[in-house]
Amino acid sequence: MKREKMLKRLKKQTEPWDIVVIGGGATGLGTAVDAASRGYKTLLLEQHDFAKGTSSRSTKLVHGGVRYLQQGDISLVLEALKERGLMIQNAPHLVKNQAFVIPNYEWWDGPFYQVGLKVYDLMSGKLGIGSSKKLTKDETIERIPTIDQKGLKGGVVYYDGQFDDARMALSLARTAKHYNGTLLNYFEVTGIEKDADEIICGVKGKDLESGKHYSIKAKTVINATGVFADRVKKMDEPDVKEMIQPSQGIHLVVSKDFLPDRHAIMVPQTKDGRVMFAVPWHDKVVLGTTDTMIEKPMLEPEAKEAEIDFILETAGQYLVKQPTRDDILSVFSGLRPLAKPEGDGKSTKEISRHHKVMISQSGLITIIGGKWTTYRKMAEDTVDNAMLIGDLPERKCITKNLPVYGYDKNLDLTTDPLAVYGTDKYQLLDLEEEQPELAEIISETLPLRRSQIVWAVKHEMARTVEDMLARRVRGLFLDAKESLKVAPRVAEIMAKELGEDGDWVEDQIELFNEIATNYRIKD
Ligand SMILES: Cc1cc2nc3c(=O)[nH]c(=O)nc-3n(C[C@H](O)[C@H](O)[C@H](O)COP(=O)(O)OP(=O)(O)OC[C@H]3O[C@@H](n4cnc5c(N)ncnc54)[C@H](O)[C@@H]3O)c2cc1C
Repeated sequence: MKREKMLKRLKKQTEPWDIVVIGGGATGLGTAVDAASRGYKTLLLEQHDFAKGTSSRSTKLVHGGVRYLQQGDISLVLEALKERGLMIQNAPHLVKNQAFVIPNYEWWDGPFYQVGLKVYDLMSGKLGIGSSKKLTKDETIERIPTIDQKGLKGGVVYYDGQFDDARMALSLARTAKHYNGTLLNYFEVTGIEKDADEIICGVKGKDLESGKHYSIKAKTVINATGVFADRVKKMDEPDVKEMIQPSQGIHLVVSKDFLPDRHAIMVPQTKDGRVMFAVPWHDKVVLGTTDTMIEKPMLEPEAKEAEIDFILETAGQYLVKQPTRDDILSVFSGLRPLAKPEGDGKSTKEISRHHKVMISQSGLITIIGGKWTTYRKMAEDTVDNAMLIGDLPERKCITKNLPVYGYDKNLDLTTDPLAVYGTDKYQLLDLEEEQPELAEIISETLPLRRSQIVWAVKHEMARTVEDMLARRVRGLFLDAKESLKVAPRVAEIMAKELGEDGDWVEDQIELFNEIATNYRIKD
């Protein structure tokens, strides 16, 4: 997957594309996979890097949503549990089975969650991934040795999926490319083009690397821009009512000393009614999340002090040792693209998490809501609509059983840091054998090998140091300080591969330092 080749394809295309997708997050990439695998001529345009937005900032769960079951949203849970099963089936190199423990401190909690989770198991049907089970106090402690034992009555263990969101996004991009899709990062859609009848017939776009403007013809245009969906809708209908309410969720990453076993903790109801997770991820632990309404969508949202304090404090209520600000290795924030509430003062927790496909009078298809877990179904619904709107030849969706690029079920995601590459792992190791200098370890802590940097430039369209350290490998999310330390070396290696000079290296280090401060707790 090379950007220059993608750009060439764009320039060569003289006929209108069947489908142009705006946005390279989970929703847009899933849509590109669906459309390309049905044989439609597909183009995806992403203004920054793939998964730069919310799709690299999730809690990394592939789940039905125990919380939604509690809220009685059966159809949402059923759909998500089915999709959870399909995601594990189609991307075993990226999604693994994760055991969660709900600790009980009140005697009535045990039976309540036990029954609820049995329903959750039953709803998974054939695609179930493990049966929930009541735990005694000792069994709970055995699974979570760091759990606060004061007043602990026991627990319940249940199973959900866990994944690397940005790596999944990249694998989806490569799957779409495998089916002849064309995908470009750093390519912003700046306008919508309409024909004499005011029907959409393409988009205006700008290559942010060269500054060149393009007019791109399309039979259908899909707005899959998440929290930015209103901006694109306004390109189509300037007076349209805004429908997105961004809601921020932050995560803190701490050392695995806080959760040394492989079990995760799930607290269904914190003191302010939220769900809290502590989940092992790439040899660290992710704590989250929050739900804070914010004014405007942005690409690099900032964690608020109160959110950081809330997570530290809540985690401290369940762990023997209270994590402090000094323990935080990284803090990252993401924005949920929720539908704006109709009335005033309604909190985002109450707003529907179902996805919605909308079609404007001129034919712009907008897909919003949902979650990472349901990206495939969202894509299927969207392309089904595009088929009608664009008068495309009718073709059935094939993604239910479509392996995601790199499919390999023999890799161990728990112990092997290269497992997320799937079958590419072997090519990466071959590269190291051919050029032994590429076996150099750039960071033991992250961990990061030189071969991964070269690979990401050659095959994964990594254009900047941030692309590399935030999304090709997850260093910035796992340990911001260590990422800052290795950034100059990463910039040098990338510059050599990209044919860039010393000025580029300096600019990149400066840019990365700026972004990374957002992920570090201020001293
Ligand atoms: C804190 C948090 C935790 C979450 N945890 C989970 C979880 O554990 N499991 C789960 O299943 N789901 C989870 N979700 C939900 C899930 O992450 C989102 O539903 C999903 O990532 C949204 O993807 P998207 O593609 O719609 O949006 P995004 O990932 O934001 O992608 C939209 C893209 O559009 C691009 N774009 C915008 N405007 C333009 C333009 N003009 N031209 C070109 N490109 C443009 C943006 O740059 C962006 O990359 C979580 C969400 C949050 C906020």
